[in-house]
Amino acid sequence: MKENLFNFTLDKLEKRMVEMGQKPFRARQLFKWIYEKKVLNFDDMTDISAAFRETLKENFELTKPTIFTKQVSKDGTIKILSEFADGNKVESVLMRYNYGNAACVSSQVGCAMKCAFCASGLLTKVRNLTVNEMVGQVQLLNDLLEEEGKGERVTHIVVMGTGEPFDNYDNVMDFIRIMNSPYAFEIGARHITVSTCGVVDKIYKYAEEGLQTNLAISLHAPNDTIRNKIMPISKRYDIKSLIDAVKYYEKTAGRRVTFEYILINNVNDSLKEANELVQLIKGTLAYVNLIPYNEVMENDFKRSTNDHTRKFFDYLMKHGINTTVRKEFGSDIDAACGQLRAKKEKIL
Ligand code: SAH
Repeated sequence: MKENLFNFTLDKLEKRMVEMGQKPFRARQLFKWIYEKKVLNFDDMTDISAAFRETLKENFELTKPTIFTKQVSKDGTIKILSEFADGNKVESVLMRYNYGNAACVSSQVGCAMKCAFCASGLLTKVRNLTVNEMVGQVQLLNDLLEEEGKGERVTHIVVMGTGEPFDNYDNVMDFIRIMNSPYAFEIGARHITVSTCGVVDKIYKYAEEGLQTNLAISLHAPNDTIRNKIMPISKRYDIKSLIDAVKYYEKTAGRRVTFEYILINNVNDSLKEANELVQLIKGTLAYVNLIPYNEVMENDFKRSTNDHTRKFFDYLMKHGINTTVRKEFGSDIDAACGQLRAKKEKIL
């Protein structure tokens, strides 16, 4: 079977080229063709001999997903549904900030984590995405930016779409390396963020990767009682083991994490919980990103009132926790956090 060339990190392709009796520099040459010149046909790679082009054609393919649907929000956010060769589809979102364009990438078809508030896990996990399927989402968003003709491209990556990235760890790491490679997408490590619901053993592994990328943790509750109710992963890894992993990560990777905390009305948004949160994380260097809950039709959770939100925010700030409230994008096209649903067409 032919392998998709978009699955390879530069290191892996160099090894592959050597196995094929070639010099390692071939990998950089190929990266240049496929990522810089965006050439999808081996015959157009004019500085490669005809004989080796034939070998490449026999061994590799260069296919991208296709855009199944596209929606544009009134704030400029673009949501696409990418379709893969087997007919599976995932959503990806392009958010326009004044400092750049962030792609929110899905890592799985569906999700196995079953967080009670989230629309993504409704159909459970269908399968992991391959590396090329994650790369493909960014390629498609870049294609749309190119069509706009303003010389813009994707400058930031958040792996916060459908799926749990640390349940597809190896592919997500290779995807990150391709995004970060100066021969491919050239996106700075500090512009790349992976978000996990708290798969503790993989946080330890991520700490050792030697990447300068960011880690966000979906905390959403300050204790096991509330967290157990809304996030099943918390029964596997309790909150203490999660905080220990964060401390290890801070020490080993030399980076701070961001705790994401959705404010859900009367579930986790009182000052009692704000206080517990302060006590829980005060031994870490972490930031807190408060996320206004996006109501979804599949459950009864409600967004916190503005009053609760302000008080929660003020409490954290007053107690020395660096806190931000997440800007919302694309809620009119169901592109906001937690609104992405894999295979939506089957639910409706
Ligand atoms: N599985 C990963 C990444 C995907 S979700 C994780 O859990 O971190 C990205 C973020 O959106 C997570 O913090 C998730 O908890 C949050 N989220 C899920 N549903 C939401 C909703 N309805 N409103 C706001 N945020 C939501």
